[in-house]
Amino acid sequence: MDQALVVPDREDFIATKGKQKKQLKCDADSIAGCVSQRACVYCGARVVLNPVTDAVHLVHGPIGCSTYTWDIRGSLSSGSEMYRNSFSTDLKEQDIIFGGEKKLLACIDELVQKYQPPLIFVYSTCIIGVIGDDLKSICKQASKQYGIEILPVESSGFIGNKSAGYRAACDTLLHLIDLGKESLHQVSSQRQAAKQINYLGDFNLSGEAWIIKGYLERMGVKINVAFTGDSDSQHIKKAPDVDLNIIQCAGSMHYLAEKLEELYHIPYLQVSFLGLQDTANSLRNIAAMLQDETVAAKAEQLIAEESAKVKPDIDFYRSKLVGKKAAIYVGGGFKAISLIKQFREIGIDVVMIGTQTGRQEEYETIDTLVDDGTVILDDANPAELEKFMIEQEAHILVGGVKERPLAFKLGKAFIDHNHNRKHPLSGYVGAVNFAREVYTTVCSPVWKYLSK
Ligand code: SF4
Repeated sequence: MDQALVVPDREDFIATKGKQKKQLKCDADSIAGCVSQRACVYCGARVVLNPVTDAVHLVHGPIGCSTYTWDIRGSLSSGSEMYRNSFSTDLKEQDIIFGGEKKLLACIDELVQKYQPPLIFVYSTCIIGVIGDDLKSICKQASKQYGIEILPVESSGFIGNKSAGYRAACDTLLHLIDLGKESLHQVSSQRQAAKQINYLGDFNLSGEAWIIKGYLERMGVKINVAFTGDSDSQHIKKAPDVDLNIIQCAGSMHYLAEKLEELYHIPYLQVSFLGLQDTANSLRNIAAMLQDETVAAKAEQLIAEESAKVKPDIDFYRSKLVGKKAAIYVGGGFKAISLIKQFREIGIDVVMIGTQTGRQEEYETIDTLVDDGTVILDDANPAELEKFMIEQEAHILVGGVKERPLAFKLGKAFIDHNHNRKHPLSGYVGAVNFAREVYTTVCSPVWKYLSK
């Protein structure tokens, strides 16, 4: 590295491909003194559970926590719109001193009277971890009283980072699935002829789960439920009654897939529907896992038709973008891997890549995919992102809501790959949307008006 890092303890979390032989450090607590780009535990849990459409999402804590995550996702629903609300117990100083349990019970009471929801998630926040309100017993008591599912989400602060929140959300979903066990026998006996799968790690941002659902239906495969995009409590409870689980967002859902395999013997497959190559490979792999020749033949037909449809657009954007350089900083490692390949499809090289929660094996794959000289970094802070984007002369940064202002202040193009975007980036239609968005931002005339 030419210039010293702001925090020298971060050196092990950063590598330049081809320069050092060291193994990148990842999956660890953030270094004290850094303002990490990572979100908190509660936020991790909330983003995973929020798209459960018929649930009331009740945040037990000060109002700021629920404001932080309210409506941050562009998840769409084909049914209930309950999830679009955010409820909070709005704890104040008095509640912190004397405990917030009474207030929580009163809130649940009010919500049940007003909305009669089938399901309430009660999220624990930092302050609950400090004052020790007993969420579990309150939820159990209220559940019994009202005869609906009221589930605690153990996501208070001080127990890790966003990844711990993902796990807390998955544990809550497993709890809900477990509660549905009794109705499963009935479902199994009525099993349909079509192959059924669960789609894990898709949050139906701008209807992405619907795009994939459409592809799979054309192959003769039915999605029972997406975790958690456009999901509801009834379909989540039927999750054990499928032939296969596929996982798009590994960071948030790999744990759930492993548990469903362990508890209900459902095999799982990692997929990615980002970019042409990954989409085609994933459709083929699903057909192979289901061991069904008709499904495989239909998958090939779909791939051929859809690829031919989007080729002219992709070729056009590629001709405009070839030779540009990209920086990537996203939540999970699997998305980062897909993005490297997707950028290549439109003629762009990745010169800096990092994630908030990537795992060792994902960084190893990243290392094999990128060219020598690419900077790879885990759990970066804004100072590092700025330094490497400038040094690597990136033209565009792909990231989320927290990275957008950084890119624009540096005079770099930006593309949002986060929860609040308004168009789908999955599948063939998503690949064209991605290429178009990269083109419009990288080739925007606005950049020539910036002083260098
Ligand atoms: S749970 Fe803690 S870190 Fe997360 S928003 Fe609330 S106070 Fe902030």
